[in-house]
Amino acid sequence: MVARSRIQAQLEDHVIRLKQCRRCPRMHSTPVSGGAVVSNVMLIGQAPGPREPVLQKPFAHTAGRTLFQWFEKFCGLAELTIRSKIYFAAVCRCFPGKTVTGGDRVPAPDEIQNCSSWMNDEIEILRPRLIIPVGRLAIAQFIECTKLEKVIGRKFRVRRAGHTFDLIPLPHPSGASPWHKISPGKQLTERAMRQVARHPAIAAVAECDRSLS
Ligand code: SF4
Repeated sequence: MVARSRIQAQLEDHVIRLKQCRRCPRMHSTPVSGGAVVSNVMLIGQAPGPREPVLQKPFAHTAGRTLFQWFEKFCGLAELTIRSKIYFAAVCRCFPGKTVTGGDRVPAPDEIQNCSSWMNDEIEILRPRLIIPVGRLAIAQFIECTKLEKVIGRKFRVRRAGHTFDLIPLPHPSGASPWHKISPGKQLTERAMRQVARHPAIAAVAECDRSLS
């Protein structure tokens, strides 16, 4: 109990400092945070889109809708439960802006480097059992990801920031890529979500949710 309240205090302090970060001058928003949720599970997005800074929460728009549908279908977990029991991080926490063709700009290597210390600090504070990177850019922060087919549907044991944890990658649920909707991406995404559902850290979230209802 004491340990948990110490972790909670560390995480709250971390989130306050994160929200004040202005390291990247080319970013188009201030940082978006899902809040200081002490958890054994971290979900890592790529970067917020234009809606998330307005709504002040990660995965607040269409990609989030699909992502939360996956969790509901395979893990029986509602969006509210996930947001209150899983720590949301991202490769970059600020909206990078649009490209000339209208898509969301992919964060530049220097911005990814700038932001990586926030994720390292979160891993050090939370020491999670499971990390779920969502999308190629997030996956590539942990393991090689030349082809989604080679990593989606598999579980990895990874070490970062002095801590070892399970890694189950998911494809990005954005409508911009049909990968997760067509074969073999559809079947591999389902396999990955079944692995997420079976993981003891997610089973514990589901159990805690049941005992509260
Ligand atoms: S992207 Fe990360 S490092 Fe850059 S300003 Fe935002 S929070 Fe800071």
